[in-house]
Amino acid sequence: MSRETRRPGRHFLQIPGPTPIPERILSAMSKQILDHRGPEFQALAKHLFANLKALFKTRNDVVIFPSSGTGAWEAALVNTLSPGDKVLMVETGQFALLWATMAKSLGLVPEVLKTDWKVGVDADLIEQHLRKDTNHDIKAVCVVHNETSTGCRAWLQDIRKALDAAGHPALFMTDTISSLGVMDLQHDAWGIDVTVSGSQKGLMLPPALSLNAISDKALAAAKTAQLPKSYFSWADMLATNADGFFPYTPATGLLYGLTEAIDMLQEEGFDNVFARHERFAEATRRAVNAWGLDIWCREAKYYSPAVTAVTLPDGHNADQFRALVLETFNMSLGTGLNKLAGKAFRIGHLGDTNELTILGALAGVEMGLKIADIPHAKGGVDAAMAYFAETATSSAQKAA
Ligand SMILES: *Cc1c(COP(=O)(O)O)cnc(C)c1O
Repeated sequence: MSRETRRPGRHFLQIPGPTPIPERILSAMSKQILDHRGPEFQALAKHLFANLKALFKTRNDVVIFPSSGTGAWEAALVNTLSPGDKVLMVETGQFALLWATMAKSLGLVPEVLKTDWKVGVDADLIEQHLRKDTNHDIKAVCVVHNETSTGCRAWLQDIRKALDAAGHPALFMTDTISSLGVMDLQHDAWGIDVTVSGSQKGLMLPPALSLNAISDKALAAAKTAQLPKSYFSWADMLATNADGFFPYTPATGLLYGLTEAIDMLQEEGFDNVFARHERFAEATRRAVNAWGLDIWCREAKYYSPAVTAVTLPDGHNADQFRALVLETFNMSLGTGLNKLAGKAFRIGHLGDTNELTILGALAGVEMGLKIADIPHAKGGVDAAMAYFAETATSSAQKAA
């Protein structure tokens, strides 16, 4: 077996998820396994369920599945809908596209509003479309909160208003897999019926936990929904969760990690976490602008606090650029998915990061641009540093 050359220092994982795992979470997860039908587990689960309500800002129960985020997409659909039901979806990028593809393969009928993948969800288009559905054949509106593939976000409050303005009774579902723990999410106040999420992005955990926050209206819909379900059944999950247990073996280690992750977000303060992500995104965009490169997302209102996709000038391949940065500086940048393939790379600025990590990542990109001979102006890192210095607050001030 050939031995890899040791690469000193730490790898910069700047993809938009999975994100680096904080030491506290790593050690929380490295505990001995315990009896998932015993009292110690029960106490842990009850504490966790209470914390999840705070995280999703909901009074209702939040269910956890041992699956990647994709499983929570499926759970949201199969628990609330019946074969042939129409669902309105907005194709903002690769993840929205995959969710619509899943809906189709489950026997639903997605009506897909297309975009050029350079904007988030336009709530007015949803309202117009729903107004035309006078028979209320559309049973759910499904949108991705943060389209990780493009770096464009949606404004969920506006979409709730669109449903209300159209007087449409469809369920409102959203994918927050890369926005939970990054941007504000108010499951109850924003009238969301099913919030879908996952562990490996803003929650700073390994992949393989998925989540559904569920409104009363979605619970009522679940009583008559006809799509087949078993592993992802809410009813079985909720019935056993009520006593602090699970219908099958839970991912115990990941649940220790999730408990620690929510504790950490609460210690920092949710609002501080969101402000931190906005600030890192702004610093990143200032760097991209200084380089004279284009941000893939073309409208400022949709800029994502989690990830920025950067378009390279014609004739330059973004994957070759990423490979060079990995090889030279031991940093992973996000690849361009589907329409962005080869054209753009993505800088993840979510999860357990700080100013210096972001500056390190931006320095790696700026040096990479130079080495790859990609036309750009100098000064991206300087612009980000200037912004960080201008907006710096000491931790003492933050706590005040
Ligand atoms: C990562 C991601 C997914 C897919 O999650 P998996 O854990 O890979 O199944 C879905 N939607 C969004 C918005 C994502 O960022």
